[in-house]
Amino acid sequence: MLKIQAQSKIPTDYGLFTMYAFSENEENWSPHLVLVAENTDFNKVVNVRFHSECITGEVFHSKKCECGQQLDAAMKYMSEYGGVIVYLRQEGRNIGIINKLKAYELQEKGLDTVEANLKLGLPADGRNFDIAVEMLDILNIREINLLTNNPEKIKSVENSSIKLNSRIPLEIDPNGVNESYLVRKKDYFGHLLEKI
Ligand SMILES: [Zn+2]
Repeated sequence: MLKIQAQSKIPTDYGLFTMYAFSENEENWSPHLVLVAENTDFNKVVNVRFHSECITGEVFHSKKCECGQQLDAAMKYMSEYGGVIVYLRQEGRNIGIINKLKAYELQEKGLDTVEANLKLGLPADGRNFDIAVEMLDILNIREINLLTNNPEKIKSVENSSIKLNSRIPLEIDPNGVNESYLVRKKDYFGHLLEKI
């Protein structure tokens, strides 16, 4: 079972957050993280983003996806309106960075983001959002607005004891490199994208 291992205030370019580290045991060096913006009231409807780790996009500003920009936009939004970012250690739709780079190599040979994973014998999307709900539960958050385009994330909340008040779209403009990736997100995974 997940539990809060540590917490601390983190001042950022977007404002002050409290960061919580969640894992089953203290020895876990990659715990899930929850960032709570200053002035977030858990007794009201809480704005929430479930965000899965993407080191290429967030740290190295890869243009192959829009994860880094989505995370920045979410931090900005939470800072302005209050809210919580649940940062899940599910790199590469939960295939890990090594497999993600292998999949990217296959994409250079013409396969798309779904075909490449399947060719490697991996799921197209192996993420699990129930753990995000579990963390909200531990924090005693009862009703949320979810910042997402992903119907799987919406389902995970609808199937939980947490009430979904509304969905807030979090769409980033295509950048000239990631169009085909966004098209697959829309036509294969059913993401609610208007700009592609
Ligand atoms: Zn990404």
